Amino acid sequence: MSKTQEIKALYKQYVMNTYAPEIALVKGRGTKVWDADGKVYLDFAAGISVLNVGYSHPKVVAAVQAQVAELVHVSNLYFNENQALLAKRLSDLSLHGKCFFCNSGAEANEGLIKLARLWGHEQGKYEVICMKNSFHGRTLATASATGQEKVKKGFEPMPEGFVHAVYNDLDSVKALVTEKTVAVMLETVQGEGGIIPAEPEFMEGVRALCDEKGLLMLCDEIQSGMGRTGKWFAFQNYDVEPDAFSLAKGLGSGYPIGAVVAGPKLSDVFHPGHHASTFGGSPLACAAALATIDVIEQEGLVERAAEKGELLKEGLEDFAERYAHVTGVRGMGLMLGLVLDQEAKPLTKAFAEVGLLAIPTAGNVVRFLPPLTVKDDELEEALDIMEDCLESMHAEAGNDAE
Ligand SMILES: *Cc1c(COP(=O)(O)O)cnc(C)c1O
Repeated sequence: MSKTQEIKALYKQYVMNTYAPEIALVKGRGTKVWDADGKVYLDFAAGISVLNVGYSHPKVVAAVQAQVAELVHVSNLYFNENQALLAKRLSDLSLHGKCFFCNSGAEANEGLIKLARLWGHEQGKYEVICMKNSFHGRTLATASATGQEKVKKGFEPMPEGFVHAVYNDLDSVKALVTEKTVAVMLETVQGEGGIIPAEPEFMEGVRALCDEKGLLMLCDEIQSGMGRTGKWFAFQNYDVEPDAFSLAKGLGSGYPIGAVVAGPKLSDVFHPGHHASTFGGSPLACAAALATIDVIEQEGLVERAAEKGELLKEGLEDFAERYAHVTGVRGMGLMLGLVLDQEAKPLTKAFAEVGLLAIPTAGNVVRFLPPLTVKDDELEEALDIMEDCLESMHAEAGNDAE
């Protein structure tokens, strides 16, 4: 039995069956990961937009190792300087307000929703207008906020207070505004929904609507944040600022941390007793995030994501022109989706067999989220692998190569 088969058997017996993995990973460096049987992959999934600075970046490793040896955890009944320093860095980079720290994406969105509800409480406002096809997490409230039935099915009754408009359709948002509405919440680029960026007119329209009606605009930047789209946060690609946004995935380079980042309007809404987290913003989590931000700045990774994203996009667009089964390319920076006229899973499986990891999403979309440190030769190698696999797919479908 291979080591992978051994691990798979252990999973089958002892780990709840919520995922369907096939590969066991044991080591990562930069864009590369190794499986339990020694096979090497180029990872264009990067832990789902978590390893934005690549696996085992020496500066992040050093910062985490030093902090582990010094002080791993203090409760939030005490100050820890790293938390304040991280809040300052995130605020300076975005909304110039204040932050709250937690441990995951779903928790960050929970915090965002609680913040909005508390802000609207005295006026009896609590309903959040979310988007169809969105993804905000798997807790009950964030699943309720999510605009996809499959995450709710079997768990009803869902928490109330969420309604769903059509993404990129401003009129559908306007139609849902009532005296109960407190906020409009959206992913700046829908990730799980198939890599769909907000249109500029939509972002601007939502902002104007929120200003006119006295609503909050909330962005979920969990997948699109931390340099991924060629800006620190994807909303910075638009002429729009939300009142607050959520972060997680890429923030701690794999050490779990989430954040609610608020502008001045929402910075002083929470008071002691309103919201809390035992682990949130620990010295270790914040050390990982501070080192991640340092690396992104020092290595110019925000600009790099824009630049390398263009290269990858050109390669993918070339496939769209040459292969009939590729119907389009979407996304920004290094958050890109290849749209197929069929299920994406067989293609990502074929990629993995020859050493490239990418994630199928929304049925027919192959999602690419490589580390922002990805090298030119790695981009070329990945495009070569994709081309070979697309060529085989084309041949199997009985089409003559054009
Ligand atoms: C991954 C993700 C979440 C949930 O994050 P978890 O850490 O898995 O709870 C929420 N929103 C978006 C946009 C995401 O991509």
